[in-house]
Amino acid sequence: MKIQEADAKSLLVAQGLPVPPWEVAGTPAAARAAAERFLTDGVEKVVVKAQVLVGGRGKAGGVKLAPSADEAERVAGDILALEIKGIPVRKVLVGPAADIVRELYLAAVLDRASRRVILMGSAEGGVEIEAVAAERPEAIVTIPAHPIAGFLPFKAREMAFRLGLGAHLKDAVAIAQGLVRTMGAYDADLVEINPLAVVRETGPDGDAVERLQCLDAKITLDDSALGRHPGLEDLRDPDDEDPVDREAREAGLTFIKLDGTIGCMVNGAGLAMTTMDLVKRAGGEPANFLDIGGGARADKVAHAMRLILSDPKVNAILVNIFGGITRGDEVARGLIEARAQQERDVPMVVRIVGTNAAEAAELLREARFQTAATLDDAAAQAVAASRGGSGAAA
Ligand code: GDP
Ligand code: MN
Repeated sequence: MKIQEADAKSLLVAQGLPVPPWEVAGTPAAARAAAERFLTDGVEKVVVKAQVLVGGRGKAGGVKLAPSADEAERVAGDILALEIKGIPVRKVLVGPAADIVRELYLAAVLDRASRRVILMGSAEGGVEIEAVAAERPEAIVTIPAHPIAGFLPFKAREMAFRLGLGAHLKDAVAIAQGLVRTMGAYDADLVEINPLAVVRETGPDGDAVERLQCLDAKITLDDSALGRHPGLEDLRDPDDEDPVDREAREAGLTFIKLDGTIGCMVNGAGLAMTTMDLVKRAGGEPANFLDIGGGARADKVAHAMRLILSDPKVNAILVNIFGGITRGDEVARGLIEARAQQERDVPMVVRIVGTNAAEAAELLREARFQTAATLDDAAAQAVAASRGGSGAAA
């Protein structure tokens, strides 16, 4: 799950990382009011930033500086009218503009290959890191964290020196360690600061001082771990999810849309994969992976059917249920209910074995469903139906 910059910054602040203050505004007037609060002594400009779940906002005109409240209101209006990479901007972040001396890149990422959290840094920050990685891989420093001890101080110092942050050693070490700590604290996959900036500020005696600030923040959370963090689910942004994915998640169904034409409804992830394989072997293309889970009741089955049919490409459905905890008759009732409700009629082939298979067969026969005894037969019938045939393959 991706979260917005402002929410990511809140998590960083909670871990003690240096982030400049900000407010979130949904209208130009609210942005103006926020700008007025920041434009005080020592703050000559505010920064207004689009809150969308994609990178490259700067290039797309989604990050602007404003020297007055009037100007902040105007640029906020411009940014709120933008669509960045197809996503409409609904909110902006407003904060004091930093006086940037240098921009660096620093991120904690989950490296699946080494099964560790690694810290990636580059003195060439600000720009998209993918471009740096492609053109000048030597400009990226990677140092793994220890799986148990975390990111030890000597490793953090090594990172700081290699990024040329010797003059900010203490802050750089705290930030490097803080990013790795943030990963663990929220079960994140990625905690990325780009830019981590050396900024110029006015010290207490009026002199210019330089310090490190996290000016941007991008965090992705491991969806499978959200259950361990009450409250983080509230940070989910509606743009993070396709409406069908959202509906599936809320219904407790594991649903992944694919490109084919044969909708598949199966219980159990392994059986769902096998079913997809057999559909392919029979010459068809699955339209989705769908695991209705163990013990699904009729209403859940009906819900799953609605999800499958929401894909206009689906022109045949294969239902493959192995009744263990799931009762075959319950699934059959769900299918009958779903067919009574559905707006679009699509040929369906049903195979139900296991618990209460006989009751299921009886219900399906009465309701005149097309059934199959074996999975191979079910796949062949579904593929034939998808091609516009009778489906009654031998
Ligand atoms: P992104 O393009 O979506 O990654 O958005 P960022 O927040 O990283 O901003 C893009 C660029 O805008 C940064 O690399 C900076 O160069 C610039 N920028 C962002 N915040 C400030 C700020 O407070 N002051 C100044 N001067 N520039 C900023
Ligand atoms: Mn950025």
